[in-house]
Amino acid sequence: MHQELITISSIDEIHSLTNKIRKEGKSIGFVPTMGFLHDGHISLIKEAKKNNDVTIVSIFVNPTQFSPTEDLASYPRDLEKDKSLLINAEVDYLFFPNTEDFYPNDFQTFVEVNKISKILEGEFRPTHFKGVTTVVAMLFNCINPDNAYFGQKDAQQAAVINQMVKDLKYDIKINVSPIVRENDGLAMSSRNVYLNEKERKDALVLSRSLSIADELIKNGEKNTTNILNEMKKKINSVESSDLNYVSIVEADSFTIIDTIEKGRSYYILVACKIGKTRLIDNKFVSI
Ligand code: AMP
Repeated sequence: MHQELITISSIDEIHSLTNKIRKEGKSIGFVPTMGFLHDGHISLIKEAKKNNDVTIVSIFVNPTQFSPTEDLASYPRDLEKDKSLLINAEVDYLFFPNTEDFYPNDFQTFVEVNKISKILEGEFRPTHFKGVTTVVAMLFNCINPDNAYFGQKDAQQAAVINQMVKDLKYDIKINVSPIVRENDGLAMSSRNVYLNEKERKDALVLSRSLSIADELIKNGEKNTTNILNEMKKKINSVESSDLNYVSIVEADSFTIIDTIEKGRSYYILVACKIGKTRLIDNKFVSI
């Protein structure tokens, strides 16, 4: 068991460390996070540890992926607790960059994935993915991992990152792990801490609406309008809910479809505010 966690903030230091690891012929597994870690993050770390010689986790609450009206300032943070979870998980290194180093005053380069960044999350958060791809590109350049680990919880994000890696010819394998849920079905998220007791119960409507859609598809419903209408009915029955979107996309291309076809795989997706808290969830279906 590791007794300590080596934390690196300097960009020069992370470059020399990762160069040294690679020169020793060791593989690097990388898990980018915004901290306030939970079992969803830990599941990615376990995958990284299983398949790589060295595991590096980053914690960085990336300002460019928040719009001015979003929760950057109030985003939950608990570095000491995160560090103890990382020690428990036997992570080798924590990369904890400074905002001023990542975004100095003269910063002017952004990475933007065009098409799949614009739909669904991109419609409701138009600058979000540009911030995500820019910071993930910077993190990849700092760490140069063999494997990077992302959660299906943010399925569109994983699709956007995959597109970026393909387009920019990164030699990095993107691994996507299943959604980790609370016992009652709520997808784990750092933002769940915002929910009060009543909202915490109301939030179950996201996973329940996905189960309704899954059931309909398994029973042979092909028309996505019918499926999405049932989801909407369920979500709108909860007073504290404010639906952003429900949608079904083809899993590989992440394109919105209107007819379910046999032999294909899909993501059913939902984004919904419960009170003031915006939550997302999805379900992978293969029929
Ligand atoms: P975040 O700290 O929210 O930016 O998330 C960091 C990584 O953890 C992302 O790749 C997320 O998709 C992943 N993640 C977040 N929540 C979960 C979850 N409940 N299950 C699996 N992965 C998750």
